[in-house]
Amino acid sequence: MERITLALSKGRIFTETLPLLAAAGIVPQDDPETSRRLILETNRPEVRLLIVRATDVPTYVQYGAADLGIAGRDVLLEHGGQGLYQPLDLRIARCRLCVAVPEGFDYAAAVRLGSRIRVATKYLKTAKAHFAAKGVHVDLIKLYGSMELAPLVGLADAIVDLVSSGNTLRANRLVEVEEIMPISSRLIVNQAALKLKHALVQPVIDTFAETLHDQPDA
Ligand code: ATP
Ligand code: MG
Repeated sequence: MERITLALSKGRIFTETLPLLAAAGIVPQDDPETSRRLILETNRPEVRLLIVRATDVPTYVQYGAADLGIAGRDVLLEHGGQGLYQPLDLRIARCRLCVAVPEGFDYAAAVRLGSRIRVATKYLKTAKAHFAAKGVHVDLIKLYGSMELAPLVGLADAIVDLVSSGNTLRANRLVEVEEIMPISSRLIVNQAALKLKHALVQPVIDTFAETLHDQPDA
């Protein structure tokens, strides 16, 4: 039996993907929040899901370990997108990538004066491109999580991170000073799988596209 495998991360991407899967007649047999399984079977024997770290999704699809995947634009930009076909913006897991600083830090003045600004982020590539385009001098510090902590303890002047409600920033007395780009998650497809497993892959793309088309803009 020919099978297709879709890689995605648990949490908000999984939850927000469930309705799209349902529209394609795909229902997972396990809930990744409670199950420890990393491979989830579905009601359709030819379709399975891989639960991987959000940043690892493009890698699984690039090398063909998964035929399809769902990944944030943030993750795709850092990965580079090699070997990936990106047919659809799924408009899920929406947020924005932005620059934030402690309440007392005058970011505009620092930029105007041409000061070197220390910026902590896990988005090195995207941050580098953003500040270079704006002519802002920065020293980037790579972190893997909890960027909000860095300015509070003197590790950095600013952070580049994802924001949706702004609650985490507020709780840590940080303010957003610049939006870099809006973020949402995209469907990604292995280019070889698109050709070799066309009969299984294309209907998933088509159903997702129709389902999105039927939804009003949020
Ligand atoms: P972890 O939080 O376990 O370290 P992670 O940060 O890699 O893992 P998530 O926080 O689940 O994973 O984020 C996965 C994706 O969801 C991100 O790549 C981004 O596209 C999107 N995302 C992240 N934060 C938000 C948010 N606050 N609102 C909406 N979407 C978000
Ligand atoms: Mg996170």
